[in-house]
Amino acid sequence: MSTFKVAIIGAGPAGYFAAQALQNLQSDERIFAIDMIERLPTPWGLVRSGVAPDHPKIKTVSKVFEKIAADPNFRLFANLEIGGEISVAALAQKYDAIVLATGSSLGKKLGIPGEDLPGSLSAAEFVPWYNAHPEFADVAVRLDCDTAVVIGAGNVAMDVARMLALEPSELDPTDTAEHAIGAFKTSEVRNVYISARRGAEHAAFTSPEIRELPKLEHTTVHIQRGDIQEAITRAGSEPEKDVKSNLDAMLAIAQSDRSQHERTLHFLFQHTPKAILGSERVEGVLYSTPNGDVTIPCGLVITAIGYHVQGIDGVPYENGKVVNIDGRVSQGVYVVGWAKRGPTGVIGTNKSDSAAVIELLVADLKSPKGAGDISQLITNQRVIDQSGWARINAAEIAAGEPRGKPRVKSVTQEELLKLAAL
Ligand code: NAP
Repeated sequence: MSTFKVAIIGAGPAGYFAAQALQNLQSDERIFAIDMIERLPTPWGLVRSGVAPDHPKIKTVSKVFEKIAADPNFRLFANLEIGGEISVAALAQKYDAIVLATGSSLGKKLGIPGEDLPGSLSAAEFVPWYNAHPEFADVAVRLDCDTAVVIGAGNVAMDVARMLALEPSELDPTDTAEHAIGAFKTSEVRNVYISARRGAEHAAFTSPEIRELPKLEHTTVHIQRGDIQEAITRAGSEPEKDVKSNLDAMLAIAQSDRSQHERTLHFLFQHTPKAILGSERVEGVLYSTPNGDVTIPCGLVITAIGYHVQGIDGVPYENGKVVNIDGRVSQGVYVVGWAKRGPTGVIGTNKSDSAAVIELLVADLKSPKGAGDISQLITNQRVIDQSGWARINAAEIAAGEPRGKPRVKSVTQEELLKLAAL
């Protein structure tokens, strides 16, 4: 029986699915001792700090993660950063293989004037802010204005626009950060524009996300019928299935009788941002459109135009991703998830993607190194292990129960460490 030691850096979906793929490849001759290392005090990656809180069903995948973590050969080392004191190279000496599963956490920039004005931020800051990520609790989200603009036409833009446009009491039964619910309740935003630079036939939203919009009980959704009819013409007689489904869903909204709520979500197509206007803070977005330049006055702009990886020392990056061939980075080092392929795909996409990389990893293995493990490299005594995380998890769920919420998230590292130690 050989025991191979594998370190997975990053406790998000791609990391857990890599661990699961390793567990599935165990046999009478071979087992895998898996150490999952996470920079934050809590695991689950985007399932905790990315998925919109009004989409609780998507988060049920965390049950799968906890089942993977329950394996006796799995250990969690949370609140431990790789790349500073502990280098990837030092780790690689201790393990038979390293799997990088660090995601893509930096928001892409538009590169237009005014992008750094107060009131302009990226979904890469706004989303973790409302999801109680410890490093984003203090992000300044300017909700003291009538109009907000979201730039981009993907599912992240849709999440962001929905969170801004829904009636905030709809967030009461969710695990939205307490500070964000408080801010949304005093928000003056009543109009939210979501702007796509191309026509509706090219929108990156997926149709379930469009079809759920009319279910918002207190928000009018406004799509120009002409925009969708023109897009249908441009898409031709045999559009791809997903395009047709999207256009059908948008047309249904455009044709529906419009309720008149206090809050409105507007869709703009063929609006390419040229500049974010303002002197002291955001005052509007200047767009170029087929009908000339148009300005949408607003006090808040959120860009949701994709992500790129945050580098770890010693790992090669190019075009926002870790340099790799089919997940192989260098001898004994592999990459999975968004860090490997870029910020595309839903959580489930990572299952097959991680499994394919793990197959290569296992094929590359020879004999076990047996050279120790991460515990010999740790100087930080505040590591949170699986039982510490289980205590945090239980305390958050217990705090949510009397208030009809799935959990109340603790936000600061100190608070989380305290719960882990109880
Ligand atoms: P995305 O789907 O790639 O969408 C990015 C959007 O940004 C596109 O509409 C793109 O327009 C636009 N864009 C890029 N550069 C731009 C620029 N310079 N100016 C204006 N617009 C620009 O990315 P995402 O929304 O970040 O989502 C990432 C992945 O997570 C996707 O696969 C998504 O489906 C998934 N996700 C899923 C869910 C869910 O299942 N509910 C929720 C959130 C995210 P062009 O097409 O014109 O480039």
